[in-house]
Amino acid sequence: MKISGLQPVTASDFPGRLAAIVFTQGCNFRCPFCHNGSLLAMDSESLIDLDAIFTFLHKRKKLLDGLVISGGEPCLQPDLARFCYHVKEMGYEVKLDTNGSRPKVVRALLAEKLVDFIAMDIKAPLHRLEDLTGTSLYEPQIRESISLIAKSGVEHMFRTTDVTPLLSSQDHENIKDLVPQGSCHVVQPFVPENALAPSLRTM
Ligand code: SF4
Repeated sequence: MKISGLQPVTASDFPGRLAAIVFTQGCNFRCPFCHNGSLLAMDSESLIDLDAIFTFLHKRKKLLDGLVISGGEPCLQPDLARFCYHVKEMGYEVKLDTNGSRPKVVRALLAEKLVDFIAMDIKAPLHRLEDLTGTSLYEPQIRESISLIAKSGVEHMFRTTDVTPLLSSQDHENIKDLVPQGSCHVVQPFVPENALAPSLRTM
């Protein structure tokens, strides 16, 4: 696992649980509104030693309920399942944040019961993926992930960042149409500071 960030505690990122967050390195999207630009390249210089992560989790066992695995895109990490297994073995619940581009990875994690909550971002209507994620390569995978997660029986939510200058009200309607009935969809505020695209930083 390439982890380059650790937030020791959050009360808001894992619904109903007090959790820590790890941020994995590397992402296959280039969302112009991304505020985690330093995490996007597979850069081995800023990595946190995995032993340090497990030592931290061991020390916080009585204080925390869960671990959020965010990124970057965690599903790009080849040893994600093993990492989830060890975290769960320590007694933590695991929440996965994903952009939905790797449904095979999500399917495998679900099959092994290695995640307790999944938050998937639906960043754009499917015909506008290129504009909002920098790539249109993953439309089938995103469709598959939405369906898979909605039917998984695991706690989940779909999320969209309200990038007002880039998403119209019609786009928001089209995104809502992608969310299966019975699934929760949360629209999050856009934070312009540190956005990947300089033109968005002053909005
Ligand atoms: S916001 Fe987009 S580019 Fe940034 S980490 Fe998430 S999926 Fe990757």
